[in-house]
Amino acid sequence: MALLPIQERWINNMKVVIVGGVAGGATAAARLRRLDEQAEIVVFERSGFISYANCGLPYYIGDVITDPQDLTLQTPESFFSRFRVNMKVRHEVTALHPEKHTVSVKNLKTGEEFEESYDKLILSPGAKPTQPPVPGTDLKKLFTLRTVEDTLSIKRYINRNHPKSAILAGGGFIGLEVAENLRELGMDVTIVQRPKQLMKPFDSDMASFIHNEMRKHGVKLALGHTVEGFEETEDGVQVLLKDEAPLHADMVILAIGVTPDTRLAKEAGLELGIKGSILVNDKMETSAPDIYAVGDAVQVKHYVTGQDTLISLAGPANKQGRIAANNICGINSHYPGSQGSSIVKVFDMTTAATGINETIAKSTGLDVDKVILSPMSHAGYYPGGKVMTMKVVFEKETYRLLGAQIVGYEGVDKRIDVLATAIHAGMKATELAELDLAYAPPYSSAKDPVNLAGFMIENIENGILKQFHIEEIDQLPKDGSVTLLDTRTPGEYARGHVDGFQNIPVDVLREHLDEIEKGKPVYVICQSGLRSYISTRILTGNGYDVYNFSGGFRFYDAVTNDRCLMETATACGMDLSV
Ligand code: FAD
Repeated sequence: MALLPIQERWINNMKVVIVGGVAGGATAAARLRRLDEQAEIVVFERSGFISYANCGLPYYIGDVITDPQDLTLQTPESFFSRFRVNMKVRHEVTALHPEKHTVSVKNLKTGEEFEESYDKLILSPGAKPTQPPVPGTDLKKLFTLRTVEDTLSIKRYINRNHPKSAILAGGGFIGLEVAENLRELGMDVTIVQRPKQLMKPFDSDMASFIHNEMRKHGVKLALGHTVEGFEETEDGVQVLLKDEAPLHADMVILAIGVTPDTRLAKEAGLELGIKGSILVNDKMETSAPDIYAVGDAVQVKHYVTGQDTLISLAGPANKQGRIAANNICGINSHYPGSQGSSIVKVFDMTTAATGINETIAKSTGLDVDKVILSPMSHAGYYPGGKVMTMKVVFEKETYRLLGAQIVGYEGVDKRIDVLATAIHAGMKATELAELDLAYAPPYSSAKDPVNLAGFMIENIENGILKQFHIEEIDQLPKDGSVTLLDTRTPGEYARGHVDGFQNIPVDVLREHLDEIEKGKPVYVICQSGLRSYISTRILTGNGYDVYNFSGGFRFYDAVTNDRCLMETATACGMDLSV
């Protein structure tokens, strides 16, 4: 069936122009069409692709996704067929004119420039890779990853030049995903960055598990080093470091973070926020009439802290696109804020976080407590269960749930989503004990890991459980003024223990009470925290003042090993062989 030309069908109806045709922009366009069959909708997209899967780009580099067509969820033609939206790729919006209600556009294929009018304008220009103010970021062997074109150019470079080594400058989630994919191609991969830990959404103790997984898969970590520039050499790139010898690799990928891509908004005089992001209200309206903005380019409220923040994730961008479209079409719709729920595959491991971590909570002045546990992904007696490490952070006084981090190999995704939902619902951390979660042996335990966290927090609230933490353990006096007890089996104790802790297994503890001096506090550790908890109950029942180590020796061992390896690397002058 022949379709009428676009202009003829859309005479006298609302016209919406959208800048950026990917997560926020494409979502807004589709929602607008579903709400208003008559509106004229034009999307300008600077790259050659719309609605592409940013999140899948690293996996094309690593040959997990092999067909580049799988990276684009829609084409301009398919989008037009379904939504009658005029998707103009390779069209860059070069200026906004809020008073005239027009935008200037350049057709990047022909060089033609023109003005396009709008009744409503939605900005969804995203965020660009942050460029550090150091020399050499424009080198040919240095890449950034944002668009399909960036991905194809990295892939082309690899296919043509067969680089054997790569340095990732930056260890956030894009850096980690690219590192993994380059490693899967057999390349020698090093991550270098100034922060001493990968993945800022995680506390440094939880990040240790990520470091250990990266090292297990041969990725070298050069953390705590400041990059001062890049120099091209005949056989690759030198990464210049402050007070250290340079690192060398055949190619470099720069992924130190993203910066809102908001030149247009700034030049048009729209009010801006953190890092030049666009200020919007909770209806996604900017300071200019009839202009909305969504996605990585906008400043949002953090759902947990209420503070202004930037959260560059696909979920928020998609939801905000929908909300902007709703409001344009007369549906009163509000964005409640972003919680930063995220999940990343790190080789065999899944790492996920939601809300705020302990470090951020403390930096915002909150008085917080936490539980750290190592539950199985499903019933221990059913084959294939895997241990995960879960940290749940809550406010001390109110027990308000603030955030959670989980690292593990199975079942991490559903637990983080339950915790994210609980945070969104404003639940108290103790209420996690009450959640009625689905159970059958292949999937969970009758006490789901999320319930277990709730039980522990409930025990803290009731005074049944008193804890001590990893940051305190090395400060405990070893002069006999306190008792330090390890209640694992002798075999486990022999394989490794914390200095100064004596071994009395939980199952014979009652028979050895006469060896534990009354009147002194007792600090107890076991492998995961469960046997030591049982020990604390035995000892409390016998009149002792007892503290349980959160996370157990398993947690202590992972964190201290990581810290030790990092110190060794530093002491050895960047020997990254660890
Ligand atoms: P984008 O989706 O980036 O779209 C912005 C578009 O606007 C771009 O295509 C750009 O070309 C276009 N544009 C900009 N300026 C103009 C202009 N002047 N004229 C015309 N067009 C313009 N998030 C997750 O939640 N999970 C993940 O696993 C994940 N993985 C990621 C992996 C990678 C490699 C990258 C780069 C991002 C990843 N993200 C992930 C982040 C997620 O993709 C973004 O948060 C989301 O795409 C933001 O949506 P947006 O609409 O704001 O911007």
